[in-house]
Amino acid sequence: MSTRIWQELFLCKDEDELLTIAKENNTCKKRTEQRDYGLCYTYICSEYRKYPLCEFQLKAKQSSDGTYKLYSTASHDHQQRNPTTRLPSPIRESIIRMSDNGLVTSQINRVMKALHPGLSIDTKVMNVSRVHRQKDRSSIKFIQDLQQWRSSRQNVPQPNKQQDIFIPYYVANYVNDLFIRLTTRQLLSACKYSSVLAIDYTYKITTNELPLLVFGTSDCNRRFYPMGICLISTDESADTFRTLFRGIQQ
Ligand SMILES: [Zn+2]
Repeated sequence: MSTRIWQELFLCKDEDELLTIAKENNTCKKRTEQRDYGLCYTYICSEYRKYPLCEFQLKAKQSSDGTYKLYSTASHDHQQRNPTTRLPSPIRESIIRMSDNGLVTSQINRVMKALHPGLSIDTKVMNVSRVHRQKDRSSIKFIQDLQQWRSSRQNVPQPNKQQDIFIPYYVANYVNDLFIRLTTRQLLSACKYSSVLAIDYTYKITTNELPLLVFGTSDCNRRFYPMGICLISTDESADTFRTLFRGIQQ
C-alpha cells in the first residue's frame, strides 16, 4: 500500500461545518474510528464507483473542544470512467416495448438472442423488464413479489437479532391501498428516549415514487432516533396516522 501525503485543509468549528465541507468537496463518509484524541472520519470521492481511480480523500480529526481538523490527500481524478455493464439504450427500449406488448422474459430472451447473437443478456432482460414493470403503478406482479418478501419477515426476530428487519404491520391489496411498516428491534428500542412521536414523508426514494413515511422520536438534546419506516400509498394524514398508531400499539 502506498503512503498517502495529507495536507492540512481547514479547521471546522463543528460537525455541521464539517458536513458542509465534505459535501462541497464531493465526498461521502467511508469510515469512523475512535482514536485516543477523539473521533476520526475518513471521506472518499462520492463518485468512486464511477471513477475507481479517483484517490481524493478527506480526513477529519476531532479535537477535545469539538472542532475538527480537516486534511486532504490527492485530488479528484475523473479521467477514466468505470466500464458500465448496462445494456445500450436502443436494446433496453426494445426490451421495454416487448414487455409492454405482453411478452414474458423467456420470449424476450429468444427474440434478443436472434437479433443480437453476440450479446449475453439473459439476466439483464429480466432486470430491465422488472424495473420497467415496477415503474408502472398498476403492476400486480410487483405486489406478489412483495407479499413473498414479507412472508419471511412477519415475526418479531429473536432478541439476539437486533438488526433483522421485520414487518409488524402489512396491508398491500394493490398499489393504491398499501401500508407496510418496517422496523428492527434495535430501532424500536429508541422509544425509551421519549414518548413523543415525530413523523415525516419523503417521495423520491422508491422506484414507484410512493411516499415513504419515517417515524421516530427525539431526546432532550434534539437528537432524532428513527424507529422505522412505512411504505404507503397515500400521505393523506388522518387515515395514515390512524393506521400508524394502530400498528405501533400492537
Ligand atoms: Zn473523485
